Amino acid sequence: MDKNLIEIRDSHFVVDLMYAGTAHNMTGRPVYQEIGLGNRAFVHRDLWNCLQKLIPYLEQTGRRLKIYDAFRPAAAHRLLFEAIPQDGFFVPEAFRSPHCRATAVDVALLDADGVEQVYPTKVDAYDENFAKQVQAGNLRDFFRYLQKASLDYQDDQIPEAIHNRDELCRLMQSIGLVPAPRRHEWWHYELPDGRTEKYPLIDFK
Ligand SMILES: [Zn+2]
Repeated sequence: MDKNLIEIRDSHFVVDLMYAGTAHNMTGRPVYQEIGLGNRAFVHRDLWNCLQKLIPYLEQTGRRLKIYDAFRPAAAHRLLFEAIPQDGFFVPEAFRSPHCRATAVDVALLDADGVEQVYPTKVDAYDENFAKQVQAGNLRDFFRYLQKASLDYQDDQIPEAIHNRDELCRLMQSIGLVPAPRRHEWWHYELPDGRTEKYPLIDFK
């Protein structure tokens, strides 16, 4: 394994990778099992140095951070793109995804009882149902739903969900991470320079 990769094993974090299972994953394929990664979350050590700063906060509040995705080997990314070959879901080239550089995580906070807080959408709004619709050429419902996944989405009807989303955003920014450039996925945070040549694609064997 690459010397820059650190496995997240601290008990303040709950690892439940969406591409290691089939329930929460629009391809319906456990691609992380297929390539031998399984349900193991690795991140670049620079990202781990940021995430560690959350521990005092998690300790104080009894909350935990659930990790839905972390390092995504390029081989897994190719399988995902082959399953849903449409730019906008998975970028066609792995090097465009910071997950393949181990510089991004998809996350949500769990409360002290281990229950996920409410947010405007599920983490990764792209479920299998939407994937089928989109492949059939029906994009409208999907894009309407995706608007809710944006960090800029506002809705008076769901104040708690909006509050939780904004609180998560402040928290992740306080440890030095940034949202995705298009701010289109409230669950995605990455190193500010995580898409640069400082962090090349990482091989997985
Ligand atoms: Zn992500």
